[in-house]
Amino acid sequence: MQVVVIGGGLAGLAATVALARRGVAVTLLEARPRLGGRAGSFRDTPTGQWLDVCQHVAMGCCTQLLQFFRTVGLQHYLVAQPRLVFLTPEGRHSYFQAACWPAPFHLSRALLAAHYLTPGDKIRILRGLAALLRCDPDEDVPLEPWLRTHGQTDRTLARFWNTVLVSALNEPCATAGRKYARKVFVEGFLQQRDGWRVHLPIVPLERLYGSELQAFFARHGVRVRLQAAVRRLLLDPLQPRVAAVELRDASRLQADHYILAVPFYRLPDLLPPSLFEQFPVLDRIRQLETAPITSLHLWFDRPVLPWPHAVVVGGVSQWLFRRPFPAGVELNGTENFSPENSSPSADGHSATVLPSPQQPAVPPAVSAESHYLQVVISASTAHLAGGHADLQQRVVQELRQLLPAARTARLLHARVITEHQATFRPVPGVDRWRPPQASPLSNLALAGDWTATGWPATMESAVRSGYLAAQVVLQRAGEPS
Ligand SMILES: Cc1cc2nc3c(=O)[nH]c(=O)nc-3n(C[C@H](O)[C@H](O)[C@H](O)COP(=O)(O)OP(=O)(O)OC[C@H]3O[C@@H](n4cnc5c(N)ncnc54)[C@H](O)[C@@H]3O)c2cc1C
Repeated sequence: MQVVVIGGGLAGLAATVALARRGVAVTLLEARPRLGGRAGSFRDTPTGQWLDVCQHVAMGCCTQLLQFFRTVGLQHYLVAQPRLVFLTPEGRHSYFQAACWPAPFHLSRALLAAHYLTPGDKIRILRGLAALLRCDPDEDVPLEPWLRTHGQTDRTLARFWNTVLVSALNEPCATAGRKYARKVFVEGFLQQRDGWRVHLPIVPLERLYGSELQAFFARHGVRVRLQAAVRRLLLDPLQPRVAAVELRDASRLQADHYILAVPFYRLPDLLPPSLFEQFPVLDRIRQLETAPITSLHLWFDRPVLPWPHAVVVGGVSQWLFRRPFPAGVELNGTENFSPENSSPSADGHSATVLPSPQQPAVPPAVSAESHYLQVVISASTAHLAGGHADLQQRVVQELRQLLPAARTARLLHARVITEHQATFRPVPGVDRWRPPQASPLSNLALAGDWTATGWPATMESAVRSGYLAAQVVLQRAGEPS
């Protein structure tokens, strides 16, 4: 059996791995010059460093993603953090880690010790969590009104619920649905002891999806074609099935089955409009909306963050990540990320990348030894009103307030990147617009974090969708899955 997988993000990679391990002949077509999709890296020109466009983290409850890394032998590049650090603007911090009590009580001590919540806040939050645990997991009502009817206040929303959910869902409580908020808290923090633990890659994503994954593919006979953008899928005129894919270079490729693992907003370019009119399940995809995530890459002349990461409570910044990667980590990627090669036309992603407004293009003092800090701001629309320059200024000012070492540190170099279509928005009832992996075409499966996986837009959702799409292909081919 021959399968063509279109899109080398995590969804396409997971589908490819699942099929290749069963001896299926897979050709993977990726528009960009590298694999990984939205979970990607760029090479910063002045420092020569490989950096993630945005730091990606996995939680312990992302079981299929962690299993995927084990399958391809990359699990040692992810390190589970023993604790989380929560920082408040006045510069105080609390550690968040599990006690030896069984779930769901293992994190109670950490919550009770949080310096940024009053005793009254903590009682309200515990009541809210208990209500969340008891409510219908599939009912996707508007989250914030529901939280308020369960005793939550402006303060607990800002200091607790939004602190966790804006990063986890890329959506604030005010507009999110309850279903995926519940999933984050129940599966991440209540149901199992290790669900909350944050797994951080210790190498840039470029390394994860670069040579080592390609070696796995080579061993399993997968044909990977980079810079092989698909222009459209050609349909069989007599029956609802795909006849071939046409690439941008006008060449055509035929297979028994096809998996389309591109972002949802690319589907109308690749499939004929008549298909959307004929099949409401495809037409509904158009209702999905996207939200941006902004990352600020800052190089200082000295270390400013004393921990590998920190969560900021009540600030503009949400997560801080310290780098560099441990000594001895060598990279062998070749791509240079720049505004030119990140243009929407290349692969459907649209990112804005700006050097610091105040820094010269190649600042004299910056080097690979400069101290790098990444600041991540999810659901960043409201913070972008004044532009990247304004946001950078506010973030640097905030860092000087939060971190004593930053007060005297000199900012040597900076980049601000906004991924405008970072994730689909988990608004109430969003699942009615997410299609199953089995498309109405008999030899086409869909994959992507936006398909029906029961997860919000995450690497976990992408991997699950890839596995489910592979299962559809195997079932339709009459093979045991
Ligand atoms: C800034 C940012 C931060 C994030 N942080 C996290 C995080 O911390 N934790 C987490 O779990 N998730 C995070 N996510 C979400 C996560 O990155 C995505 O959910 C996941 O990577 C999606 O994978 P995918 O395969 O579904 O889609 P994509 O990664 O978008 O992959 C689709 C692939 O299809 C390719 N393609 C598109 N059109 C064509 C074509 N015509 N022909 C061939 N190929 C094509 C694209 O180039 C791309 O490689 C973040 C996302 C962003 C943008």
